[in-house]
Amino acid sequence: MFDTTVAFIRKAFDTTAYIPLHEPHFAGNEKQYLNDCIDSTFVSSVGTFVDRFEQQMASYTGAEYAIATVNGTAALHISLLLANVQPGDEVITQPLTFVATCNAISYCHATPVFVDVDSDTMGLSPQALKAFLQTHCVVENFTCKNRTSNKVIRACVPMHTFGHPCRIDEIKALCDAYHIALVEDAAESLGSTYKGRHTGTFGMLGAVSFNGNKIITGGGGGCILTNDATLAAKAKHISTTAKVPHQWEYTHDSVGYNYRMPNLNAALLVAQLERLDEYVENKRCLAREYEMFFTKSGMRFVTEPLNSRSNYWLNALILPDKAARDRFLEATNAKGVMTRPVWTLMHKLPMFQEAPCAPLKHATWLESRVVNIPSSVRLP
Ligand SMILES: *Cc1c(COP(=O)(O)O)cnc(C)c1O
Repeated sequence: MFDTTVAFIRKAFDTTAYIPLHEPHFAGNEKQYLNDCIDSTFVSSVGTFVDRFEQQMASYTGAEYAIATVNGTAALHISLLLANVQPGDEVITQPLTFVATCNAISYCHATPVFVDVDSDTMGLSPQALKAFLQTHCVVENFTCKNRTSNKVIRACVPMHTFGHPCRIDEIKALCDAYHIALVEDAAESLGSTYKGRHTGTFGMLGAVSFNGNKIITGGGGGCILTNDATLAAKAKHISTTAKVPHQWEYTHDSVGYNYRMPNLNAALLVAQLERLDEYVENKRCLAREYEMFFTKSGMRFVTEPLNSRSNYWLNALILPDKAARDRFLEATNAKGVMTRPVWTLMHKLPMFQEAPCAPLKHATWLESRVVNIPSSVRLP
């Protein structure tokens, strides 16, 4: 079973060795910048690479401001705090996501509310969101209230799954109409655009991740994107222990977080960012090869949604049913080709079992069928 698929993937990656799902690629200025960083002695949260990285991220994505953080989860946490998420609030998100999205909501002592995804984008469905808002919510004093739970719905966090942009403009219009803050989880979609605009720049704030498995990595790292100068200043302030700038005095004007990206990680990232366009092209080329092969084989390969240009961070297949999915996972992993199922849906995890759920038809359907296949950049 799936012998031709395994053979095709081996040929695509030109190796008989184990093929991981996504490995980082370091062949540019990474070592040089790391050495420069070490020689400067500024290895921690102050340094020129962090500042350079922020400027380059802003210019790459077209966001007015980029604030570097220690990881993507921290970027989400700070974004939600700046969206004024209060203890006891509700935050709408999708059940088909990595746990970090919901962890960040929990750090604010808020509850996730799960709304379905679209089956083509695998990201939050504007149609499902609209149905949920119309059925359960009212706007009072410029605040959205869930009449069923009697809680405030403060924010909405859609996620661009595997790098494929969701219908973010329609989601934004709904959030605006209901006075809900839009925070994009763009952790997986650096390099992806929707209607020509970079993901992560549609909402009040957007969060990007540079974990080791993402399209570019600093070993770890994250970034907040925003077009709002006040929010950008606040993001930098509370992610750097809320220290009041002064030459020698140590004064802090609120509870802050030690969430600043270390300069060492930023050194790696400045080098990685220089290669990002090349990585996106390379990954899109692999996706085209996959698409041709799987179409010929009668298998369903996930392609970029309409109106978007995807970074194809993780390639995905949709198997006919759970049994076929399990056979696929068995056969490929047994032959040294790493594949994995999509995440267990968030509302099934013990800590989110009590969270409110809208109907989750598409997410449930996808959960038992979607697998990710090797997607690393193929460059010497
Ligand atoms: C990777 C990821 C994150 C978190 O990023 P970290 O840098 O690992 O904290 C958040 N959301 C999604 C959807 C992710 O894939």
